[in-house]
Amino acid sequence: MTHDEEKLLRRAIALAAEARTGGDPPFGSLLATADGTILAEERNSTLTDRDITAHPELKLARWAARELDPAAAATTTMYTSCQPCGMCAGAIARSGLGRVVYALSVEQLHALKPPGRASAEPPAEGPALYAEARVPLEGYW
Ligand SMILES: [Zn+2]
Repeated sequence: MTHDEEKLLRRAIALAAEARTGGDPPFGSLLATADGTILAEERNSTLTDRDITAHPELKLARWAARELDPAAAATTTMYTSCQPCGMCAGAIARSGLGRVVYALSVEQLHALKPPGRASAEPPAEGPALYAEARVPLEGYW
């Protein structure tokens, strides 16, 4: 990682601190062009917005998919204070961003939390009803 990239990652960490100061969980992210120009910044706002999806990475991925053409999105890098969660990683993949650089890993994050604070996925069942479920998809692509 270059010195300029460390500056961008430090800005994402500062955004995380700003989120905490504002009463939200301490996570921040930004999206930058290849030359390091910041296009957009976001802070976690899950508590103040009462929105479980208001992670900064997801907000930036939605912004990029809406505001950038695919070629431009592919040249961007997201700098984020923590490794994106599964929800955000999926949105980042769908948005076509070029790269993600993070500070804390998910493992490091969990080590900083009190025991029992890691979110768990609910039990899931499937696949089922294949013959019926495939009907709305046939011919779509
Ligand atoms: Zn997330």
